[in-house]
Amino acid sequence: MSDRAKQRVFNFSPGPATLPLSVLEQIQRDILAYPGAGASILEISHRSPTMDDILDETEANLRLLLSIPDNYRVLFMQGGGRLQFSLVPLNLLYGRGTSAQYVLTGSWGKKAIDEARREGEVSLAWDGSGVDFCRVPTNEELDLDPLAAYIHYTSNETIQGVQFPAEPAVGEVPLVCDTSSDFLSRPIPIDRYGLLYACAQKNAGAAGLTAVIVRDDLLRTDGELHTMLDYGLYARQRSLVNTPPVFAIYILMLVTRWLMRDMGGLDAVATHNAAKASLLYEVLDSSDGFYSGHAEPASRSLMNVTFRLPDDETGAAFLSEARDAGLHQLKGHRSVGGVRASIYNAMPVAGVEALRDFMITFRGSR
Ligand code: PMP
Repeated sequence: MSDRAKQRVFNFSPGPATLPLSVLEQIQRDILAYPGAGASILEISHRSPTMDDILDETEANLRLLLSIPDNYRVLFMQGGGRLQFSLVPLNLLYGRGTSAQYVLTGSWGKKAIDEARREGEVSLAWDGSGVDFCRVPTNEELDLDPLAAYIHYTSNETIQGVQFPAEPAVGEVPLVCDTSSDFLSRPIPIDRYGLLYACAQKNAGAAGLTAVIVRDDLLRTDGELHTMLDYGLYARQRSLVNTPPVFAIYILMLVTRWLMRDMGGLDAVATHNAAKASLLYEVLDSSDGFYSGHAEPASRSLMNVTFRLPDDETGAAFLSEARDAGLHQLKGHRSVGGVRASIYNAMPVAGVEALRDFMITFRGSR
């Protein structure tokens, strides 16, 4: 291991988040000259044969990992997860009614709703603000509108640490999902969806890239939308409407290879992630309330474990001593407070075990 690699800590950042070391090392090897290109991936045309191959392989790997059916397009876009908050209503409200439904389970869903309201009417199928976003709804609790153009939910609320264990049942209305913080962390039945999107900087690589998976029949064909905002155009032009985020797409290709070859596919990844999360939730549950989890057990996120300590002073000591122990970026989001341990795919079991052991020792020292 290089000297620099030895300096790496266990990094629990919610995003941009830790990447597999083998992916970083591959980037390091490729950075001066990508094999066969005679130049860095940063220096060649997005329409070059090399980039063509990278686009092809990245899409093919995603199709394989997620079993994406043929009638879905894979788009590589920019603008982060948040641009999708606008693109979804801009593209999907058109021609299919003027109202959209949202399931509100946390901070990101709220921001998505704020943008949708600029485009049309929004109704809430469920509003978790009354329970401080500590859980997701059951199917029975959803107040569905069968005439809505689509229904949007956030599969994992990164800030609150609540995650849907499975897709909500929404009938025939196209289901749209912000899967930014649990993309590629488990298999997804794509055919249950109209559209899914995920920014890449958590489980899928680097900031600057957002992957969109959309069913053919939801694409607009009227040509009325602004060029850079039209999913249909991205689909027809293979995401090469303008210069796509080539470096981030290349990193996603490496991450998908790592998921297939080193991790053994998404079933194995899901098992691995559940085992990691349970190491931390077991500490919460056996701490006599010293660590109090934000999420109700049935809605606990396997990606972002959120909890508080008895008081602010103890919380601050926890974060500072954890940092001294090589456990970084554990501070909870300011709106929730406390601690947030983000344990995406690339966080090794050893990192989670180190945090678990630290939590047990810290509690013992109080
Ligand atoms: N949705 C979710 C669930 C997120 O966690 C985030 C980022 N933390 C976003 C959307 C926004 O992503 P971006 O910063 O790429 O716009």
